[in-house]
Amino acid sequence: MHSRFIEAFALLPAALQTALEPLLSHDDFPAMLTAAQVADVCAQTGLDDDALAFALLPLAAACSITPISHFHVGAVARGVSGDVYFGANMEFSGASMQQTVHAEQSAVTHAWLRGEAKLASITVNYTPCGHCRQFMNELNSGTALNIHLPGRDVATLGDYLPYSFGPRDLDIATLLMDKFDHGYTLDETDALSKQALQACNQSHAPYSQSHSGIALETHSGKIFAGRYAENAAFNPSLPPLQGALILLNLAGEDYLNVRRAVLIERSQPLVSQRDATRSTLAAIGCTELTALTL
Ligand SMILES: [Zn+2]
Repeated sequence: MHSRFIEAFALLPAALQTALEPLLSHDDFPAMLTAAQVADVCAQTGLDDDALAFALLPLAAACSITPISHFHVGAVARGVSGDVYFGANMEFSGASMQQTVHAEQSAVTHAWLRGEAKLASITVNYTPCGHCRQFMNELNSGTALNIHLPGRDVATLGDYLPYSFGPRDLDIATLLMDKFDHGYTLDETDALSKQALQACNQSHAPYSQSHSGIALETHSGKIFAGRYAENAAFNPSLPPLQGALILLNLAGEDYLNVRRAVLIERSQPLVSQRDATRSTLAAIGCTELTALTL
């Protein structure tokens, strides 16, 4: 079992420990459960889907990286596929505060990067901040997304974000998590560049059209790609680097082990990720960034 789960796992009910142990015993547990695994764990424990999501929160929160706040937030997103995805907050000491990832952003992005089509619900151990409510308003599930919080009845994003402003107010037809391919091509054969290009092609940037994607390679040779997720309110937008770091972290890798990165964005974009990406990568010890333009 990955060392980060040991403490939280020990505090779970015995029946849940027994059901989860075969999944978590692998070091490469991907911080997600497939629909079949969810059904199996529910059958073994007697928990329903919602109760299981709450029970998993301590494990999700154990994935947080919080050198600044020491405040561990966990989120569990459930896709329409039935698969569930962990999310956790991430902070980067030495970078600007704007580079921070919130747990809800982590769970949403985790689901998106693993190919989930749409979210049905998200369960969080603390009430979502305004930033996250706005971030989630970009999703193709819209204000119908169910939000589960400890000690509260289930409510929708619309309940938590009344009088909202979002993509529909700007006549945006393609929403976050909708499948899309922008069709960019690049004459690169390097595996990292190929994955960065694919991520760029699937990025969500309907306001600036400044599509971008990144791929990170760790010292262990694994590759993690991230897509830009733009937001109607601009500031809650999540850069591609954060997407890749979310996936890397939840896969159990150490974000201080990024060896090199390839960022791909349009030439002369209205919004550029290059300088902030270089700066944040440097804060986590990676100085080898190749920035390619389309
Ligand atoms: Zn938040």
